[in-house]
Amino acid sequence: MNAPDNPAPAVDLLGPAEIRQLADKLGVTPTKKLGQNFVHDPNTVRRIIGAADVGADDHVVEIGPGLGSLTLGLLEVAEKVTVVEIDERLAGELPRTVAWRAPQAAGRLHVIVQDALRLRPEQITGPTALVANLPYNVSVPVLLHFLAIFPSITRVLVMVQAEVADRLAAEPGSKTYGVPSVKAAFYGDVRRAGTIGRHVFWPEPNIESGLVRIDRHPDPDWDFTDRDAVFPLVDAAFAQRRKTLRAALSGHYGSAQAAEDALVAAGIDPKLRGERLAVEDFVRLAHSTPDPEQESYTR
Ligand code: SAM
Repeated sequence: MNAPDNPAPAVDLLGPAEIRQLADKLGVTPTKKLGQNFVHDPNTVRRIIGAADVGADDHVVEIGPGLGSLTLGLLEVAEKVTVVEIDERLAGELPRTVAWRAPQAAGRLHVIVQDALRLRPEQITGPTALVANLPYNVSVPVLLHFLAIFPSITRVLVMVQAEVADRLAAEPGSKTYGVPSVKAAFYGDVRRAGTIGRHVFWPEPNIESGLVRIDRHPDPDWDFTDRDAVFPLVDAAFAQRRKTLRAALSGHYGSAQAAEDALVAAGIDPKLRGERLAVEDFVRLAHSTPDPEQESYTR
């Protein structure tokens, strides 16, 4: 059998012994506050990277590289990996870990030491994919922040709490459908991509984790900058999720009547609850201009 032209560089992924060795060396006691549960299972890392379809053309951004379990796996396949880590000790050790386990990939790693929620678009040029085991306490806001500031990200594969994964991938009308579902669907097709047990982490979390894949809409009917008009409507619709849209959006539009007029103009029944609306409905509502002549059908 012929060897491939560009064989993937061999990378030694981190197992339980190396994770403990690194943590001991750094004196790291994982904190709950920063959601520090480190993956110590190479098979899980390979599963995540396979589910993300990362390839040699990708510039992957990883939020929260921690001790580097996933980073090493990403460096094995991607052209470039940029990581954003809030914990200075972990970020500082990462280049040494890569030099130890994957020296040939050291020049392809870029480390940013910062709170990912405060990252600005000019800090990373043209990332194509986001792959991360997200810190659980900021998982949804940080995911939405990166989708908003990097339109070049076309693929996302994140590990989050199983319950959050369910909410992100929920369909209109289901119990778990809510703000994260609509906002994620605004950017792309969202689906569950598997469940991960607790034993692959150190320390073990109390709950299962889930993988979520998002493929950015290649040609949506709306502009991604429309979020400034769409997202406040989504927040208002779900802030009082048991109310009808007419009531829930009355604050947003100034009165229940004005909310009703906007809903009717968008072809949406004002007596529905927000949980029935798909992202397309929210976009249509954000763009609707009530016709002053129109007879509202609940009047
Ligand atoms: N990627 C590693 C792995 O899979 O083993 C670690 C994942 S751990 C669940 C989450 C990581 O995110 C930790 O390294 C933590 O320090 C980091 N982190 C927490 N909050 C952060 C934030 N706001 N910005 C950037 N990194 C953060």
